[in-house]
Amino acid sequence: MDFSRYFRDYPTPDGHFGPYGGAHLTTELKEAFEEINAAYQSICQSAYFINELRRIRREFQGRPTPVYHCDRLSRKIGNCQIYLKREDLNHTGAHKLNHCMGEGLLAKYMGKKRIIAETGAGQHGVALATAAAYFGLECEIHMGEVDIAKQAPNVTRMKILGAKVIPVTFGQRTLKEAVDSAFESYAKNYKDSIYCIGTAAGPHPFPLMVRDFQFCIGEESRQQFFDMTGHLPDAVCACVGGGSNAAGSFAAYLNDPVDLYGVEPLGKGANTGDHAASINYGKPGTLHGFDSYVLADENGEAAPVYSIASGLDYQAVGPEHAFWHDLGRVNYVTASDKEAVDAFFMLSRYEGIIPALESSHAIAYAIRWAKEHPYGSILATCSGRGDKDVDYVVEHYGYGDDREY
Ligand SMILES: *Cc1c(COP(=O)(O)O)cnc(C)c1O
Repeated sequence: MDFSRYFRDYPTPDGHFGPYGGAHLTTELKEAFEEINAAYQSICQSAYFINELRRIRREFQGRPTPVYHCDRLSRKIGNCQIYLKREDLNHTGAHKLNHCMGEGLLAKYMGKKRIIAETGAGQHGVALATAAAYFGLECEIHMGEVDIAKQAPNVTRMKILGAKVIPVTFGQRTLKEAVDSAFESYAKNYKDSIYCIGTAAGPHPFPLMVRDFQFCIGEESRQQFFDMTGHLPDAVCACVGGGSNAAGSFAAYLNDPVDLYGVEPLGKGANTGDHAASINYGKPGTLHGFDSYVLADENGEAAPVYSIASGLDYQAVGPEHAFWHDLGRVNYVTASDKEAVDAFFMLSRYEGIIPALESSHAIAYAIRWAKEHPYGSILATCSGRGDKDVDYVVEHYGYGDDREY
């Protein structure tokens, strides 16, 4: 397929990427999402909005984030050169703030006074609470009781930033119920509120909007890599949960001779069922109001999923990734918990960068690719920093002293 016209053709006006995407909504929510779509279609063409977002990125977020050449790690492996796009250096320590600031600016433009969202591990909640504080908006975060107990430091951060954290007490009391609870609150309050999803998934226009807000990752890295080396990387890789950092990392390269790799979490292994590799092991289906690849049980219900990286354990994947997979433009590969932990220690010891366990999946794949391609170059998106993961890693794997480096 010729990708030069891709952004003009996809998504279609009703939010389809081929057979995926769309918006399956109740009548009430339909109106609310159409309002968001109309507002976004208008502001994304507005010089005022674009310039304001650029200013915020520069002055508040600290963008552009650097591209970094992992010289010691590359030499350890061979002659292939590994590079990182350092989203861990974005304000709040991960890429999620890129779309939260865009969503906050949209809420302001629409004259809303409140932003509503769900959060699983709390990363999206913290990024959104940050955006709310910046824009002077009220912030309502729905979070399962089980997750609230597990993720106490993120709950504390959200509260310090002024967000209202609403415990979700029904069902499994985790992410899926938090989404249902946030949708319910939004249906009641959409006149003065806007819903802000945490990844490039959900009903139209969120997959499009979040990808656009994350586009800065690849747009910057493409120019930065070229300025550093005089050419483009042979390959780009990023981890895939819902797919926001990966969509932003890949979109700028679609029409280039660059191989793209989305890395899904293989958890404890394909045959254990304890993974969250939706494209590799899921089937086309519907979840949370959109069509994509979904990991479902025999009754078609969303299956329990697992990854050592809580930001990657989602039963579905953004619809554009499903489309890129079917088109053959992006290769969806996997990395296990073990490979991610190995990469976590390798990057810490060789480069002085402690990556998030989510990002460690992308780095694990970059290391594998480097071993197979002795003279190439690969750019991995380091989607976030690992401070949030150090206690867990030390408790289960020690300090890494028993490993060979
Ligand atoms: C949430 C999160 C992810 C996964 O989300 P995507 O939408 O797939 O990008 C990856 N890395 C970090 C650090 C995260 O916080």
